[in-house]
Amino acid sequence: MSCDFSLAHYRELIRAAREGGYRWAGFDAPPEPGVVILRHDVDLSLAGALAVAELEAEEGAWSTWFLMTRSVFYNLASAEGEATIARLRELGHHVAHHAVWPHVDLDSRFDAVVAWHNPDPEYMRAPIEGAVNVMEAPFFDPEHYRSDSNQHWRNGCPHEQLARGEFDWLQLLTHPEIWAFDGATMRESMESMLDADRAARFEHLRDDRIDLS
Ligand SMILES: [Zn+2]
Ligand SMILES: [Zn+2]
Repeated sequence: MSCDFSLAHYRELIRAAREGGYRWAGFDAPPEPGVVILRHDVDLSLAGALAVAELEAEEGAWSTWFLMTRSVFYNLASAEGEATIARLRELGHHVAHHAVWPHVDLDSRFDAVVAWHNPDPEYMRAPIEGAVNVMEAPFFDPEHYRSDSNQHWRNGCPHEQLARGEFDWLQLLTHPEIWAFDGATMRESMESMLDADRAARFEHLRDDRIDLS
């Protein structure tokens, strides 16, 4: 099994967790032994998010999706944004807020759960009034946390440890764009994402009655 950042290996990762006997959980109750809390920060692409969300649902998994209200890459208030939230809920996922310091824009679209985007250490683990901060106890503990930032697992891809049931519990953060778009490097995955985005934007132009003749 090669630990690349592809949808195929993401599927293997999900299956490994199941093989290890884990069950899925969110941020609505303190983590218990035997749970994997799947967390996704959506930084760049709603289409990438949906590709991973559909795959998880096919595998009988669900996760918590952290969506931005202040992204330069996507608009959650657009028709695409609203459809994405509706589809995530329909698939049984949880929807939470990926906030940009110092703004917490929690509203009825989100569960009261916040993950800061690119946080600085000063506020990363600070309590947030009226919401769970995913990086505070009991949800965060370095021994029970893995993330895939920039196609780099700080402690290696966790699929083998999951399959062997080695984690008591785990918060697993993945960024869907890394997995949903092809590329052997972060640069290549981003090129793939931008190619797909260009095609999508032509559709938006057509929908906007722009003359492309
Ligand atoms: Zn792996
Ligand atoms: Zn982020």
